[in-house]
Amino acid sequence: MLLRKRYRHGPCRLQFLLLFLMLGCVLLMVAMLHPPPHALHQAVTARAAQHGPEAGYRLNFGESQEWVLESDDEGQEYGPLEDLPPFISLREDQLLVAVVSPRVKRNQSQGRRGGSYRFIKQSNRKLDHESLERDWGAEEEDGEVSEEDEMTPLGLEEALSSRIPLQRALPEVRHPLCLQQHPQDNLPTASVILCFHDEAWSTLLRTVHSILDTAPRAFLKEIILVDDLSQQGQLKSALSEYVARLEGVKLLRSNKRLGAIRARMLGATRATGDVLVFMDSHCECHPGWLEPLLSRIAGDRSRVLSPVIDVIDWKTFQYYPSKDMQRGVLDWKLDFHWEPLPESERKTLLSPVSPIRSPVVPGGVVAMDRHYFQNTGAYDPLMSLRGGENLELSLKAWLCGGSVEILPCSRVGHIYQNQDAHSPLDQEATLQNKVRIAEIWLGSFKETFYKHSPEAFSLSKVEKLDCTERLQLQRRLGCRMFHWFLANIYPELYPSERRPRFSGKLHNTGLGFCADCPAEGDILGCAMMLAPCNDSRQQQHLEHTGRKDIHFGSPRHLCFDVRREQVILQNCTEEGPAIHEQHWDFQENGMIVHILSGKCMEAVVQENNKDLYLRQCDGKASQLWRFDNVDTVDE
Ligand code: UDP
Ligand code: MN
Repeated sequence: MLLRKRYRHGPCRLQFLLLFLMLGCVLLMVAMLHPPPHALHQAVTARAAQHGPEAGYRLNFGESQEWVLESDDEGQEYGPLEDLPPFISLREDQLLVAVVSPRVKRNQSQGRRGGSYRFIKQSNRKLDHESLERDWGAEEEDGEVSEEDEMTPLGLEEALSSRIPLQRALPEVRHPLCLQQHPQDNLPTASVILCFHDEAWSTLLRTVHSILDTAPRAFLKEIILVDDLSQQGQLKSALSEYVARLEGVKLLRSNKRLGAIRARMLGATRATGDVLVFMDSHCECHPGWLEPLLSRIAGDRSRVLSPVIDVIDWKTFQYYPSKDMQRGVLDWKLDFHWEPLPESERKTLLSPVSPIRSPVVPGGVVAMDRHYFQNTGAYDPLMSLRGGENLELSLKAWLCGGSVEILPCSRVGHIYQNQDAHSPLDQEATLQNKVRIAEIWLGSFKETFYKHSPEAFSLSKVEKLDCTERLQLQRRLGCRMFHWFLANIYPELYPSERRPRFSGKLHNTGLGFCADCPAEGDILGCAMMLAPCNDSRQQQHLEHTGRKDIHFGSPRHLCFDVRREQVILQNCTEEGPAIHEQHWDFQENGMIVHILSGKCMEAVVQENNKDLYLRQCDGKASQLWRFDNVDTVDE
């Protein structure tokens, strides 16, 4: 009976088990088709990383705390930045002064953070453009422009500028392909920061209107004007009132002269958009200038971007489009230039409107993710007034895991100053900023800069600049050496001037032996090692010239090369502009840097041998070298 009962129940239990199993499978499949939100987010992020913003990726620009990195998977994109503590660039309370405006006084209790400063509040009254023009545009008719007001540091023809409407259409200069691009509707938002010091009223407001007229409202979070202690009458008084009538435009006034660099940072501390756009206060934008910047940043938040900058003539205010396919570069005086994109780079572009990889961005307009900017140390807060910050930002980006591009479909016109308009004080500040760049970012190549700029060299001797914080930042971010920039981003800059010729035996300071190839006969591919120094051994006779290669004594057609981080002999490569595996830099401190990798030649003791390998440069004695002879004759 019992047995029968069991038998009877047997198939029933089996059926139940099978049913249970099937139910489990169904549940599993459902779970795979509809992953929990977190897993889905990761999958989408991975897809976006492959395909860029076109893949329908929406960035999670939530209301995260300022200065603090966002979620884990976004942190990974930044690599070494993950561990960064919050970065506060400036004590903003010390820099700002209350904006005196009746409207603001009334609303004081509603200030964002309280304290002694606030943005000017917006008026409820929105103005149409015609009434703005009527009220504010025709200054000459008002007869309010004093002689003094017509003089601006820009040295531009302000009287003419004030006759040109504050809103004007620019000639279409974009490539036809740009007009076919349709931006997504889920782009990050932008805060445009304009700082100014005694800017001409008309050029400042033309910049503001041009942004308002060209940037889609959905993507323009705000325009933040930062008044860097202007003295000019109208900017001090009428501007507050004018700005209060423009939607989305805020005004901050500093009670100290900050200079452009720190004034931009001050603006950044109050920005709430996902992306920061720093723009000079004398620009005019083309329709569609903002969207390509935002979409490129949505694809990779470590990009530092600039539009193509066209020229607005400072005398006639005519608009001159710049030539196609230019990139921003620097020279050994650390000055910025535009240069036609070299053929080798041109070939890598998919289309004439593809983003252009650029060694540096120009100073006038630059865009980047707000958190990226803050977490990578913003601008150097110890730079003074103006100049050089675009170079520092670009070098920092390239060397610390980011990248720099110019976007052909994004175009903004900029009034280039009459160079004489920069005061001696401005020029001195720029020089000092360049010395900071050299001391912080150029490594041993700072000597090359000082050779090209004797005035900077004198300044560096007179004034010892405090670079400690910036050097710490560099270590925290795990930045590469300047060699890497020269090898990978701008090899054309590698100094080709007269360099000393080193020859003879190559002594290792730490181990006391000399570089040698022990093999006899066919020595192609021979692994270099240390051996007791011996004058009569041809294999120990080496030569290092300004051409950067290290020639072997005999046979002469062999050069130091690298395979899997080991130093070996190979046939010497023909010289071209590009940096390659056989390029070495013998530095004054005795280190021999493999330029392509930025690593140092080190004698590594293993078993009975002392082989030559590439290792991270740390200056230990086995990385220090000395040639027998230093000959200063030209190469
Ligand atoms: N600026 C500023 N404070 C200064 C110097 C300049 O706010 O001490 C502003 C200036 O009004 C402009 C921007 O910073 O909007 C960049 O300066 P400038 O146009 O002189 O630089 P350039 O374009 O000549 O390199
Ligand atoms: Mn400018």
